[in-house]
Formats: sequence, structure tokens, C-alpha cells
Amino acid sequence: MSAGGADLSALRVLVVGAGPAGTRAVETLLAHGVKPVVVDEAPRNGGQIYRQPPPGFRRPAKALYGFEAQKARRIHAVFAATEGTLDYRPETLVWNLSRNVAFTLDDNGLAELPYDALILATGAMDRTVPLPGWTTPGVFSLGGSQVALKYQGCAVGRRVAFLGTGPLLYLVAYQYARAGAGVAAVLDTASFGDGLRALPGLAASGTTLLKGLWYRERLRLAGIARKSRVTPLAIESDEGGERVTALRYRVGRGREKRLACDAVALGYGLKPETQLAELAGAELAFDGRTRQWLPAIDDDGRASAAGVYLAGDGAGIAGADAAELRGELAALALLADRAVTVSARRMVALRRRLARFARFRAALETAFPYPARLAPALPDETIVCRCEMIRAGEIRTAARELGATEMNRCKALTRLGMGRCQARLCGQVAAEILADATGLPLAAVGRLRGQGPIKPLPIRLAHLADEPAPGEAA
Ligand SMILES: Cc1cc2nc3c(=O)[nH]c(=O)nc-3n(C[C@H](O)[C@H](O)[C@H](O)COP(=O)(O)OP(=O)(O)OC[C@H]3O[C@@H](n4cnc5c(N)ncnc54)[C@H](O)[C@@H]3O)c2cc1C
Repeated sequence: MSAGGADLSALRVLVVGAGPAGTRAVETLLAHGVKPVVVDEAPRNGGQIYRQPPPGFRRPAKALYGFEAQKARRIHAVFAATEGTLDYRPETLVWNLSRNVAFTLDDNGLAELPYDALILATGAMDRTVPLPGWTTPGVFSLGGSQVALKYQGCAVGRRVAFLGTGPLLYLVAYQYARAGAGVAAVLDTASFGDGLRALPGLAASGTTLLKGLWYRERLRLAGIARKSRVTPLAIESDEGGERVTALRYRVGRGREKRLACDAVALGYGLKPETQLAELAGAELAFDGRTRQWLPAIDDDGRASAAGVYLAGDGAGIAGADAAELRGELAALALLADRAVTVSARRMVALRRRLARFARFRAALETAFPYPARLAPALPDETIVCRCEMIRAGEIRTAARELGATEMNRCKALTRLGMGRCQARLCGQVAAEILADATGLPLAAVGRLRGQGPIKPLPIRLAHLADEPAPGEAA
């Protein structure tokens, strides 16, 4: 029996993701007598922002998480307190969902995990826009370059150019500079005017704005050049194409410039990891402000599919503090839907605080808008889908000569998005190019349908070796 009186002993709840959202969801379920199964592909809990280094690495929390060290400790402590009692499965990937069964992969192989209710707290990934030369070794996503520093304690280059837009651009550049790594410059596609327009909304957040200004000021004091209104042009490499040598860009309508560097970290904000939500039957809706498809959820995180709840950045980017609140709220909604008595006052308070975060988020989108102008301007020969080596020109040909007016048709005609990443990296940019080539609104060209496996699965050669060859007796 739960605290609320409903019999939940047989209820199988699965939580995917042990970041801030998943952690608070788990904590809330446990507090109401429900023991979920928690699955995360990462080796340790904490998610992206509070990612823990491997055991044996000894960088102190302050060095790893800066201003957020205290929050990181609190989030880590939730899981530490459940050790031995919670069914927590790290290093386990959920690669597909179908009919209330999660298909997982861990060191022991493939398994199936049935559930009655599901909380997806799968977080986000970098949003990138290709440019000529972006497949050269030494080009990283912004998040990837931060993971290298946070998890492995190493920098991606000796002189790294930071390119893109969003709060993470300045944060990671600052973290690199602070760790003693070389930062060539910070190049932002947003303009000073964007920031000015967003100022009233940003100011309402208080400390978050101050932290952002502080990062910028530290970069300035360290003598690191910062440019806004940047249009990236190309990444240059050595003769063999094996090493980054420079980044070419333009500021406003100015002359072309060349920045010498040996690595580039690029990212234009984040995109939610929505594949599992889609496979679980959740509807997605087009969000015109961020120009992406997001799971359609109610204020508490309920998806359109029964028994499916979304929390954290996987439901729409709102940041780590909001992720904690959304995790708790989604768990409370799940419990309330199962007739468990939960605090209605607490739910109201959480919704109210989340509404404030939503206003702040809107201001951030104004300050650091996704540069929709970049993808349509890519030269024809630029690789867009790097798994299948599909170039921008091939998408345009599919649109203009083969009649592709929708993303899945474009995929069938070009192989775009059929490779390892399943379009997680290229899907949105390809849609921008297709929309531009057809003259259709972005929402009208749709998106590539999610399919399992959402991430690559290893072929176990040992198993194959045991199989008889075709035509061979068993
Ligand atoms: C690379 C990166 C770096 C970031 N760094 C910062 C930062 O320094 N500061 C900041 O304020 N914000 C940062 N952000 C944003 C920040 O991650 C989020 O605001 C916050 O972590 C969201 O919490 P969450 O619980 O929703 O998701 P996350 O913290 O991302 O946690 C999601 C968890 O789900 C797991 N997961 C996802 N899919 C699967 C699957 N299929 N199977 C199993 N497990 C799965 C992941 O391993 C992860 O642990 C970063 C985002 C990214 C993508």
C-alpha cells in the first residue's frame, strides 16, 4: 500500500534518465511508496549538467560544477541514499519502446523490461548547423567539448574556437579558460540587439543573468575576443584534411576574417531527445519559436499516450533547475492518475514556479535565437548527413527535381538520416534546407519519424561466430 491508500505494490514504473529530472521523479515516487526501475546509459547518475567523473578522478565539485556545485552534491546525494534499495541500472541503453515494453542493452546483452507507467527524463543534445569543413577531426559539438573536460579532464585542442550561440557557448568557453585550456575566441551568431530586447525578461531571473554576465566578464578579463552577429563560413584544415587549422567567418556585413585554431567547439542551443517519447506513442507538435518538434504535454508532463510522462529538457529545453521541478511534477501527476493522494498545493506551487522559468526561457530564446538563416545558405557541396555523406545539394535536388516536399520522402530518395545517428544530428537542418528549397513553411515539410534502434547497437561477433553459415549443417 502507498501512503495515499491505493495498492501500488504491483505497479511497474520505469524511469529513463538519472539527470536532475529523473532524480527528482525517483525521489518523489519513493516518498509515496512506489519503487521504480531507473535506467540510464551513463555510468553514473547526474545527467549532463551534474555528470560525475569516473571513479578515481579527483577534481573537486567546485572545479567541475562551478556555481552549481552545491546543487550537484544534492542531486548526487539522492541516489547515494537509495543505494542497495533502488533498482537502478546504469550503463543501460533503452533503444526501443513498444507496447509497454522497453528494449534495453547493457554489458550482458539485450533485455526486455515491461512497464505499466513510464517517465521519460532523457534530456537534450547539442543543436548543430553544419558548415564546410565541419567533418574535419578537431571539430566537436559544444556539449562534447564540455564532456571531454568534465568527464575526462582534457581539452579538445590547444587553441579552441567557440562558435554558435546560447548560454552554453559562454559557459563552456569560460570553463576551458578557467581550466587553463587555450580559447581562440568566442563567436556568437546572436546580435547585441537580441540581448538588449531580451534584457527585461532575463533580468527577472536575477542570479542566472548575473552568472551569465560574470562568465562574459571573466572571458574579457582573460583577453579572449568575443564577437557577435557572426556568420560562420568554413573550417579550414591541413592538406590531408586531418587537422583543423582555422575558422573563417564574417561579422555582420563586414569583411571575411580568419581565426587560427586547432579545434572548433560548435553549438546553437539544445534540442530535446524526443525519440523515445515518439516510440512510446506521444504526439509531437511543431514549436514555431524554437523551430523544432516537441512532445505535446500538459502542464504536469502528461503525454498524449496513456501512462507516459515527460520531464526535464527531453520535454522542451528549460534548464536544470526547471528539470528538477518537472521531474517532481511528472511523478506527482503519475501518482495522482493512479489514485494516490498527493499534495495538490505542492503541484500548484510547482506549476507556478515553472511558469516563471518558461518566461525566462522565452527571454533566452530572444537573446540567443536559433540562426535559421544559416542552413538555407549552405553551399551545395556541404555535407549535411555525415553518416551517409549526403550533401546540401542532394536535398535541394530531391526537392526541385524529384518532387520531395516532405522529410520522409526526402529520406527515401537520398538516404538522409539512415545512418548511425538516425538523423538526431542532421534531421532539423535538413528540414530547414528542404523547406527553403520547396518554398514551404518549415512545419509543412515535417520531420523524420523516430524508429528503433534509436542509437547504434553492437553486432556481437561472438554470437555470429556460433551461428552456422548459410547452407552449413547446424
Ligand atoms: C552535453 C550537454 C552539456 C550540458 N552542460 C550544461 C551545463 O554545464 N550547465 C547547464 O546549466 N546546463 C547544461 N546543459 C543543459 C542541461 O543538461 C540540462 O538543462 C539538464 O541537465 C537537464 O536535466 P534532465 O534531467 O532533463 O536531462 P539530463 O541531465 O540530460 O539527463 C538525461 C539522462 O538521460 C539519459 N538517457 C537519455 N536517453 C537515454 C536512453 N535512450 N537510454 C538510457 N538513458 C538515457 C542520459 O544518459 C542522461 O543521464 C547541458 C546539456 C548538454 C546536452
